[in-house]
Amino acid sequence: EMVRVIADHAASAIANAQMYERMQRMATTDGLTGLNNHRYFQGIFDAALGRAERFGRKVSLILTDIDHFKTINDTYGHPVGDRVLKRVSAILQENARKTDVVARYGGEEFAVLMEETDTKGAYHIAERIREAIEKEPFHCENGLFNCTVSIGVATYPHDAATKAKIIDAADQALYKAKFQGRNQTVLYGKMKEQQKSSS
Ligand code: GH3
Ligand code: MG
Ligand code: MG
Repeated sequence: EMVRVIADHAASAIANAQMYERMQRMATTDGLTGLNNHRYFQGIFDAALGRAERFGRKVSLILTDIDHFKTINDTYGHPVGDRVLKRVSAILQENARKTDVVARYGGEEFAVLMEETDTKGAYHIAERIREAIEKEPFHCENGLFNCTVSIGVATYPHDAATKAKIIDAADQALYKAKFQGRNQTVLYGKMKEQQKSSS
């Protein structure tokens, strides 16, 4: 009888732990892509900045947005759009390094946070990601199509000192990448230098 009671307790403890883990995963990851969700990413970013401040290290942020994604949805249908989002997510993870954190930042926007990474290192990863997506064949009913992304990069502490300002800087660089014709990486620091020298 006692063995049975203990076994029942153990079974329910395991079930609870599994349930907890599932809830935890649901709260922190995006359902479609399996990437970290926006909210969870914010916490990771705070923690990374705390470490960088304390130890005098660099942190870089990549913000990326799929080019003309609305056209992809309109042309091939929403389910194909969803498959593109999943595949782009996988390519981001394949091309980021183990210590980088990839997140779904918005609908078709993604973020990669890179600790101990300066602008040069971040540019290397950004271009690797951009080129991998550019090369990837995507399938639809009528055959294959291609998809590209635009990327903005900002680095702590060179470009900005707070999370909100780093995000804003990367976003400004991303906007410039779109404006300049898409399928390219823009570094916030370089963009500011060019603005200064042209004024
Ligand atoms: P741009 O090159 O300037 O970024 O153009 P865009 O068409 O990508 O930009 P826009 O912001 O107009 O379009 C984003 C689209 O992404 C609109 C929205 O319907 C679509 N989208 C957002 N989330 C999802 C999703 O989960 N699945 C699918 N299939 N589409 C999504
Ligand atoms: Mg967008
Ligand atoms: Mg877009």
